[in-house]
Amino acid sequence: MNTTEILKTYFGYDSFRKGQEEIISSILSGKDVMAVMPTGAGKSICYQVPALILSGITLVISPLISLMQDQVKSLNEAGIYAAFINSSLTETQITKALALARKGTYKIIYVAPERLESAEFMEFALNGDISMVTVDEAHCISQWGQDFRPGYLKIVDFIERLPKRPVVSAFTATATEEVKTDIAYILKLNEPKVVVTGFDRENLYYRVEQMSTKQKDAFIINYIQKHPNESGIIYCATRKNVDFLYENLCKQGFPITRYHAGISNTTRKKNQDDFIYDRAPVIIATNAFGMGIDKSNVRYVIHYNMPQSMENYYQEAGRAGRDGENAQCILLFSPQDIMINKFLLDKKEFREMEIENIDLIKQRDAYRLRVMERYCKSTSCLRRYILEYFGEKVTASCDNCGNCHGEYEEIDMTADAKWVINCIAETRGRYGQNIVTGTLLGAKRARLKEVGATNYQSYGKLEHRNEQELRLLIDQMLSDGYIIQTDGEYSVLRMGDITQLKNKDTHVTIKIIKDNEKMTRSSDKKKRSTDALTSAGYKLFESLRQLRLVIAKEEAMPPYIIFNDKTLIDMCIKLPQNEAEMLNVSGVGENKLHKYGQRFIAEITDFVAENPNAVISTEIEGEEVTEPQKIRRKNRKEAFYINPEDGKNFEYTQYCYISDIKERLNRICTAENVKKVTIAIIWDYLVSVGLTVEKLQEGNMVKTQTEEGLKAGIKTIDKVSQKGFTYQLLMYPETVQKMIVEAFTNP
Ligand code: ADP
Repeated sequence: MNTTEILKTYFGYDSFRKGQEEIISSILSGKDVMAVMPTGAGKSICYQVPALILSGITLVISPLISLMQDQVKSLNEAGIYAAFINSSLTETQITKALALARKGTYKIIYVAPERLESAEFMEFALNGDISMVTVDEAHCISQWGQDFRPGYLKIVDFIERLPKRPVVSAFTATATEEVKTDIAYILKLNEPKVVVTGFDRENLYYRVEQMSTKQKDAFIINYIQKHPNESGIIYCATRKNVDFLYENLCKQGFPITRYHAGISNTTRKKNQDDFIYDRAPVIIATNAFGMGIDKSNVRYVIHYNMPQSMENYYQEAGRAGRDGENAQCILLFSPQDIMINKFLLDKKEFREMEIENIDLIKQRDAYRLRVMERYCKSTSCLRRYILEYFGEKVTASCDNCGNCHGEYEEIDMTADAKWVINCIAETRGRYGQNIVTGTLLGAKRARLKEVGATNYQSYGKLEHRNEQELRLLIDQMLSDGYIIQTDGEYSVLRMGDITQLKNKDTHVTIKIIKDNEKMTRSSDKKKRSTDALTSAGYKLFESLRQLRLVIAKEEAMPPYIIFNDKTLIDMCIKLPQNEAEMLNVSGVGENKLHKYGQRFIAEITDFVAENPNAVISTEIEGEEVTEPQKIRRKNRKEAFYINPEDGKNFEYTQYCYISDIKERLNRICTAENVKKVTIAIIWDYLVSVGLTVEKLQEGNMVKTQTEEGLKAGIKTIDKVSQKGFTYQLLMYPETVQKMIVEAFTNP
């Protein structure tokens, strides 16, 4: 098979994306590669496709267990033999996996960098045929990268010990010059082919909103309400913020979960799974969450606080829209975030780091924070700011970000800042923000009279301002250190260091949006593929999603690994009703077709039969069509039945699963022009005769037998999936098998 055939057969895609072919052909010609591609660009395929062509094994060094597991699951789903070797396995399991690897069972093996030092693994590598070593997340090798992993420094020793030097390919999404140089130099890449694809993620809409903390909560509540069926990540700077926001949103009844390092391992794992399996589509988390999370249908990433660096921001925001569908990346900025981050950076620990480097790293951290601060305060194109930071030349504004659409105003509030200082001086540092802003705005409140603030000189001096502007000003002054806010329940404002403010060249500015409505409308302007679906199309999309959820549960696999949203949408648009048509859908390869194709075809065929005239979509593969696409009514088949003669050929057994009954019925059927029977059809029959029922148990819909069903001999058995999950299946005795056969026999 050539590379395009592999792409189609295993992964179900018709063509390579930008950069992929170039990387693959370099590897296949034996040339080392360093590829810098943004998250979601499709790095994995760049080493997975050649791995299938190279004669020996490809070792992929990857920093995270979850990342490896996800990749191996996806490869196995695509019908490719792959394994991972890391600390989640027992010693016996590792020995067993290596024994299989020696026999040539796997083409691709994922390993953690630390594994390269183990004697057992080295012994395997010295005697095995290693064609390629791929270093995933290669920036972990650089101390300038934000995720430095000392284990990565050992990779080169490992490669040098191998009897024959394999091709080395390194992949990262971090493009800064220092990191690129480190990767090539430390890994001793041999005149590598360097491929840097554009860093831009066109489907992401960037937006920064400056607001106070209180306003942030309201913004998020409003956003989730307006995007009810969407999956999102909300990042907070601290665990406390995560917990606080989580409690607040729980009260609103949103299906949310949370993640941070202070939560026990088991709960963290459960919460992460709830998010991945879409049981809780929104997660509130610190930056501890996300590495190795490949969930493709995340529609928005909101930052409740400003992150510490552009590298962090781009990586976290980049978790939105990995399926290529449009997604929003919104940063809610308040100048207080700068202080929070300075505090967090002060507390940062430097382990396994040479002392002389620590100072330098601290300087870099401070620089990165300033870059981030400038991003938040920028009034020009946000995409351009990001791309230029990562070293890309951009000539025009993008017309696809909050700043390009919004009308921002930068207000010079230097004179107002002086009045804030006066007011705080008059309060003698005894009162908090409410009294200070109320005083400056000249509010008519009894409390102001009571504390004597109505007699201050500063009373009413800023009455031409509104409360939001004043709060933003105070936040800004806190961040600049001109004023200080004490901790505790009754936090008060005190004077800080105002030396700088006395300098006539110093300005205090805030950024506010002029026309919020306009921006919201513009950001929703871009179409998603789901926009092409009509309400009937959306109904089909939802039922395909449900089917995917059922299969995901059976397989103990995240839904997006079965098929991603983009693939389901493509099914709604193309309406495949046989295997050949199904293979035409983007993301359906042969293995997945074999495993799941029939169930999705059945679902689509049923839908088409039930809604013969429905208009499903107004678009075909991204192109507008003038005539709405109607469901094709070709060869309408009749509902499933068998001829009386067929019944005699049914293979009865003492007990069997519903899937066996389905297969046996389809096998014996000689009736012409009938649709295949599906599990759902047999199930509906069993429900209609009162033998089985689907009911809610501990928040999940569970299929079980009724009293009648028990009497008829239907029993439940516990099963443990390969991955260790327990689930229950119903088994049907011969008498019930007979009932079913009779029910489907056409006399
Ligand atoms: P990265 O590792 O760069 O973040 P992935 O390898 O996870 O990205 O790929 C992101 C998504 O793009 C995956 O769903 C993948 O299957 C899909 N993809 C990769 N290459 C192609 C292609 N040539 N055509 C269509 N989809 C692709």
